Amino acid sequence: MTDQARERSVVEAAPKQLFINGKWTDASSGATFDVLDPSTGKVLCAVADASPEDGMAALEAAAAAQTAFAATPPRARADMLMRAFHLLHERIDALALLMTLEMGKPLAESRGEIAYAAEFFRHFAEEAVRVNGGYQVAPAGGARFLVTKQPVGPSLLITPWNFPMAMGTRKIGPAIAAGCTSVIKPAAQTPLSMLALAEILAEAGVPEGVVNVVTTDNAGAVMEPLIRSGVARKLSFTGSTAVGRRLLEQCADKVLRTSMELGGNAAFIVFPDADLDAAVDGAIAAKMRNSGEACTAANRMYVHTDVIDAFGTKLAEKMAALPVGRGVDDGVRVGPLIDAAAQRKVQQLVTDAVERGAKVLTGGETGNEPGFFYPPTVLTGVPESARMRHEEIFGPVAPLTPFTSEEEVVAAANDTEYGLVNYLFTNDLSRALRVAEALETGMVGINQGVVSNPAAPFGGVKASGLGREGGPTGIEEFLETKYIGIALA
Ligand code: NAP
Repeated sequence: MTDQARERSVVEAAPKQLFINGKWTDASSGATFDVLDPSTGKVLCAVADASPEDGMAALEAAAAAQTAFAATPPRARADMLMRAFHLLHERIDALALLMTLEMGKPLAESRGEIAYAAEFFRHFAEEAVRVNGGYQVAPAGGARFLVTKQPVGPSLLITPWNFPMAMGTRKIGPAIAAGCTSVIKPAAQTPLSMLALAEILAEAGVPEGVVNVVTTDNAGAVMEPLIRSGVARKLSFTGSTAVGRRLLEQCADKVLRTSMELGGNAAFIVFPDADLDAAVDGAIAAKMRNSGEACTAANRMYVHTDVIDAFGTKLAEKMAALPVGRGVDDGVRVGPLIDAAAQRKVQQLVTDAVERGAKVLTGGETGNEPGFFYPPTVLTGVPESARMRHEEIFGPVAPLTPFTSEEEVVAAANDTEYGLVNYLFTNDLSRALRVAEALETGMVGINQGVVSNPAAPFGGVKASGLGREGGPTGIEEFLETKYIGIALA
């Protein structure tokens, strides 16, 4: 099979309908919307465009399945997740190609994401059978306290396009483990990976109605009635802070439980005593994973004045050498951005920084090729007034700013409404711990440019969100605590 034929066959084989109550169905209106390949700008295929009524049918299916699913033995739910974990690995080649075609990231990164996505299923399969409670004597004696955990109930899960599968399994895994049914709405730009995942979950034995997938390019109109319905008990959202704020307001109406994984503005700090080569490699990891289209991407790089020139030269050399191209092609390390708007925004942020005095060490200009590409770019001397100091760049642009003291850099790093992750590079253990404790983020990477790990609690503070996904506490987001008081005669 030629490469093109293989691409076509993977797209043809992917489900493109809504998945409601265990059945594949067209949108009730018959409407569809197009999915593009960001590396060419051409249409890959069309998928069902759900109406608000379709969304409600999915939620009703989830609600109808809730009681029986909550009563399923934890081991049975764990086994479903483990079967899905194995199926994801068995099909990793086709799934990675599908993800690359709809999202653009290089095949190796898509494979990495599917392995990461599968790991959430294994992690939560192990957690499903470890949910426990308590038994306590009341302080005054007499009564006893019995404490138990129960599933929250039917949950709405909304995911972004940048990690089309892992952001889903990070929610579906704990929902299934806890005994919650759900309606998932993937991003309109990347629905195919989630639909393929629904097929795998059904094969893994997840009962009808437990996981429903609704695709739409009119997210607000479809999701708001579900949020306000009184039927859903929880919203778990990953996406931008702007949309997260709006959804929190909607959730207030019925006082829904919420988990919010929102935007970031990560600082990447290099102290003068750092191993400079390790810091450059860490910067490439923190910046170039997903072409910078990650909430955890290093958005502001603060480098001590003593080492900024050497760091900038090394980083620019390595960034310039990264092959850019279609993610399906051999050796490509940097794929396209998600769409033309993203490409325009990155260019505007770079132009703004340069107009305010930043110097381009490499990159800085979009080419004329088809697709939404942007070259790996390093800027130095980026002033605090630049827009990219305050907004998510979401592209392969590393902006360097010099600093002189620890106090100054901690204050600068904290001077943002976001609080997801920061990175710091130093060989001084006391400094590493002092700075890590002073940084106002949910996560800190010390001498490493990647923090994501299914076994670790992922999440932010301030406007970066509420709650944690993964780790030992990730399942708690889908559990309620019930206390039963018992009088002892
Ligand atoms: P987005 O525009 O906020 O969209 C996220 C999801 O919300 C998509 O499925 C989107 O649907 C949906 N949505 C948009 N408006 C909605 C509405 N009014 N009601 C209900 N749903 C709505 O974010 P994005 O551009 O896809 O993703 C990038 C953002 O996600 C960045 O800010 C990034 O930092 C953040 N992110 C955070 C984490 C984390 O763990 N903290 C992880 C990954 C990404 P449509 O696609 O149809 O618009």
